[in-house]
Amino acid sequence: MRTCFIFLLTLAAPGWTSAAVPTPESVLGHKPGDDFYLATYDDALGYFQKVAASSNRIKMVNVGKTSEGRDWWIAFISSPENLAQLEHYKDMSRRLALARGIGEEQAREMSREIKPIIHIDGGLHASEVANAQHTIQLGYDLVANEQAEYQAIRQNLIVELWFSINPDGQNMVANWYRQNLGTQYEVSPLPFLYQKYVGHDNNRDGYMLNMIESRVVTKATLDTEPLVFYTHHQSAPFPGRIYLPPFNDPISSNMHPLMLRWLNLIGMTIAQDLDQHDLPGSMHQESFDVWYPGYLDNMGNFRHTISFFTETALYRYATPHFYTVDEFPEARQGLEHEMLYASPWKGGWWRLSDACRYMYRASMAVLDLAAKYHEQMQYNKYRAARDTIEKFEKEPPYAYLIPREQHDAPTAATLIEKLMLNGIEVHQSSKPDAWVILMDQPFAGLVKELFEPQKYPALAQRPYDVTGWTLPYQMDVEVHEMTTPVTDELRKGLERISSIQGLTARFNHNANASLRAVNQILAAKGNVGFEGNEIDAWGIDKAKLDSILAANHFKPVAIKEGGKPVKAARTGLYRSWQANIDEGWTRWIFEQFDFPFQNLYNGDIQAGHLHENYDVIVFPDQQADAIMKGHREGSVPERYAGGVGERGMDELRDFVKQGGAIVAFNNASLWAIEQFSLPVTNALAGLKPNQFFCSGCLVKIHLEDPKNPLVAGLSEDPIVMFERGPAFDTRADFKGTVLARYPLERSPLESGYLAGPDRLEGKAAALDVNYGKGHIILLGFRPQWRGQSHGAYKFFMNALYLR
Ligand SMILES: [Zn+2]
Repeated sequence: MRTCFIFLLTLAAPGWTSAAVPTPESVLGHKPGDDFYLATYDDALGYFQKVAASSNRIKMVNVGKTSEGRDWWIAFISSPENLAQLEHYKDMSRRLALARGIGEEQAREMSREIKPIIHIDGGLHASEVANAQHTIQLGYDLVANEQAEYQAIRQNLIVELWFSINPDGQNMVANWYRQNLGTQYEVSPLPFLYQKYVGHDNNRDGYMLNMIESRVVTKATLDTEPLVFYTHHQSAPFPGRIYLPPFNDPISSNMHPLMLRWLNLIGMTIAQDLDQHDLPGSMHQESFDVWYPGYLDNMGNFRHTISFFTETALYRYATPHFYTVDEFPEARQGLEHEMLYASPWKGGWWRLSDACRYMYRASMAVLDLAAKYHEQMQYNKYRAARDTIEKFEKEPPYAYLIPREQHDAPTAATLIEKLMLNGIEVHQSSKPDAWVILMDQPFAGLVKELFEPQKYPALAQRPYDVTGWTLPYQMDVEVHEMTTPVTDELRKGLERISSIQGLTARFNHNANASLRAVNQILAAKGNVGFEGNEIDAWGIDKAKLDSILAANHFKPVAIKEGGKPVKAARTGLYRSWQANIDEGWTRWIFEQFDFPFQNLYNGDIQAGHLHENYDVIVFPDQQADAIMKGHREGSVPERYAGGVGERGMDELRDFVKQGGAIVAFNNASLWAIEQFSLPVTNALAGLKPNQFFCSGCLVKIHLEDPKNPLVAGLSEDPIVMFERGPAFDTRADFKGTVLARYPLERSPLESGYLAGPDRLEGKAAALDVNYGKGHIILLGFRPQWRGQSHGAYKFFMNALYLR
């Protein structure tokens, strides 16, 4: 085993630590990072509570609850004098972050006086286990270590230590590992999502804030306005031992340049610190870019908090692994020094303790840097806010206007709420009746980033994540950009708001929220009828109906019997043991809109009687192989092995033949085409990336027949998220309906990067295919992408009613 320099040093020199503060091993029975040991979140919390009881250098704060209802605590660590003034420093920090009413000289003075806050966390990807183990040792040393390095940090900074930003997941993964330790399944993958709904996508919810965890972190961050927001991850490009800034291009032009300068400086600072401590293998610019703004650990840059992640190497859980150089990619087997990989890793054992040690030093390097340069960093944060306000005083867009009367006004209100949760100032104007986002505000770069169409730069490498996300397009919200300065007259009529006031839209199919209201009326045993876009309700108490409508931002309506009566379908949602993020997003949306549903696992499908119990079964985006075969026998505990399989397919075919419906999202439609032998082909099959490539962009499609109930309420030319999906050709024997098509003779691209747009021209994007007495709906796009594409929700929601 390698020597653990830092940790041994701490132990070997009792005079350097406060004896009264309990060490992690004295409480946990293990040193964080020990082979085969993972502390749960509950363990870590219990430990930090003991530390807090023994020292006045730490203050525990409850920040809220997690998705599973767990109490969530963080630690502020500094000198007792600084902690006594925590509220004062937070207040200064917020004022500097907004820059309003603070001149140059005062900003310099405040930057000198303040004890700035630095956010460091133990990560949110719970299977990247070292993240939340290293914070335990880090927390202990920041409180108890008496060496000059630690004293300087306590004297100059306030550390906001989140020992985990996914407590639920940390418990889930540690318990899974404990239960399999020593068996053949020791390193088997977790068959559940390690965040209740979205698993690994918990890092991609940074601006949409759909998940409770994203909201808690964002709220706390707006409260403290840290200088730095540092999140640990564990998927370094092999054989690198840690991936650091500078990251790969492209990068948003809506971030203040000072953020990127500091980001790069911090990356190099960490690398030199690691080399100094004999921890080689730092790598930069190799893989991940940060084009997508939604990473929780990138979002802060738009609010002038230097925000970043690092990726330390991972084997699996707390199980050690030995690497030899001949396993390295050929180009790296020579162990040559490179400009951005100056100390190549030479292979050998890689243990959890190694990963913890790299993370520990990386966190310390950031704190050391901030302890030395905090004054300049703090001034730069103020400066970036001031520059942003001044920039949009002089150049467009000067403002965005969002009419309160539009196709789907409650969804427009949702967009406004998202902006406010992100710290964006929103005003309401009475004439015109609109919400107004003035751009001369400190975080205006974020608004521009979310509202403008993305133009992906011409680069040699292909994008890593989604390339276009323009929220007004995705949500089908009408937004007007003001290209001339805001007039005094408009400004005078504005009132700053902190919640949606007085919005009463027409209750009809155009609004997604109308379907939530419909579900609530049906659940209250009322009746509902659909006729085109109109919705009628009867058989329900008028006061009850009004309260349902008001809660969903609708005007009251008269009780009236009309249209074709509808019933909520008995809906099944397929849930794979190959934990599928898209299933989680679908489940979350069903819950948000009060759709009744049941999760269906492989065994439930194979057990049959589907037609007796279900009307519709939804298959979220997933590869055909994963649906059919699932986890390989022997790779996971037996009950989680296998997929739908032939037995399940027989049941599903019977289910549709007898009149059931299947709705398949994106790549699940390829599974349906194959397994049901549908007369449909994928026009994109076999194309090479230089012929066609799209890792996620927004495209325009066209409804073939807006009167078809399956597309009721959608715009005639909806914009949808296309992401590595299919496009359909129908064969001569096709029976069914083309619901939507890509336009002919023009590129469908609206935002992001799309190579080979002509391949989509005229192809079908959504189909309703007849099969026996039932039907199969194929959606060749992501109708509910990351809970953002509200403008496409009705493509599947309409299928969840019986008419
Ligand atoms: Zn990660």
